[in-house]
Amino acid sequence: MPAPPLDARRMRVTDDDRWDLLGARCPACGHTVHPVRVACVRCGRATEVVTLRPVGTVVASTVVHTTRPDVALRPPFGVALVRLVDGPVLAAPVREGEDPAHGDRVALAAFDVGEGDERRRALQVTVAGS
Ligand SMILES: [Zn+2]
Repeated sequence: MPAPPLDARRMRVTDDDRWDLLGARCPACGHTVHPVRVACVRCGRATEVVTLRPVGTVVASTVVHTTRPDVALRPPFGVALVRLVDGPVLAAPVREGEDPAHGDRVALAAFDVGEGDERRRALQVTVAGS
């Protein structure tokens, strides 16, 4: 059985262990955001949930050297800010051993964090094509 999503506003895991990157698109003005929001941040109209293509371009990245008890990743780990081809910008940890630079084309992949009943599916950034 696939691990449930860490945040159901960000991704949907299906029974066959596939996943969708979720966003919200405003039918009135077309503005698209990630994660899902019920109202448009530009015009306030009700949004509709859409599936976003999990590919984009790195606009910034950094290495995190500290952690908190509620973060399953062990430092140091990379985090990249990615502008998706569908518009929204999101931040996600970078796959271990990879170091995407500003302007690199990347993809989002799913990975499991936590153990046992705490295991959840989350997103990570990976160099496109790897
Ligand atoms: Zn709108």
